Amino acid sequence: MWDVDDTLFDFSGSDRRALSRHFQAEGLPASAASVERWQQATEIAYGRLAAGELTYEQCQRQRVNGFLGRTLDDVEADAWLRRYTALFERAWTAFPDVTATLAALPYRHGILSNSSTVHQERRLTALGLRHHFEVLLCADRLARAKPDPSAFLAGCRALGLPPDAVAYVGDQLDTDAVAARDAGLVGIWLDRARATGTTIVPVPAGVHRISDLAGLPRLLATLGG
Ligand SMILES: [Mg+2]
Repeated sequence: MWDVDDTLFDFSGSDRRALSRHFQAEGLPASAASVERWQQATEIAYGRLAAGELTYEQCQRQRVNGFLGRTLDDVEADAWLRRYTALFERAWTAFPDVTATLAALPYRHGILSNSSTVHQERRLTALGLRHHFEVLLCADRLARAKPDPSAFLAGCRALGLPPDAVAYVGDQLDTDAVAARDAGLVGIWLDRARATGTTIVPVPAGVHRISDLAGLPRLLATLGG
């Protein structure tokens, strides 16, 4: 079972390219500080979505308002976000190791994402990856989002497998790998930053770390398939 954003789909890279174009079009500085502010506003809004404080629509408007530092009315906020989204969709890319890894792994695959079903259906289809996944489960169809154990257990039920027969691969150490381990799955942290040597984070007991997907087949074989 897989996370999508920054695991399969290069969300951050696609986002950076689209933001630079969007800020220029909106007459805003296309600076690293602007990008950082947008990413912080996004992280805060998704945190509130995961905590059940916001609906998905409210979360999207909160990203805009948090970034701009003022509250637009809903129509304006939605229009601002639509202009950005059009550029973002044109910039969508999967990480270069994804297609070959999914094609080579002799396992069934499912998605468990904290984004919305409609978005992830569209993204995975546009990236040519949707056919790999027999289950696509997103936070909008779950009682609780990751890191809640019930989200992972719902994914296992959808696959018809016990938790200890399912590995979960995600880019977030706590929300993905540690939470999966705590729910009884095999937690695998895809630490893409490790390949660039920018992070040195100790890995908690019972969590497995890979720095790219090339390391996944061997790890899964070691774990007994
Ligand atoms: Mg992710």
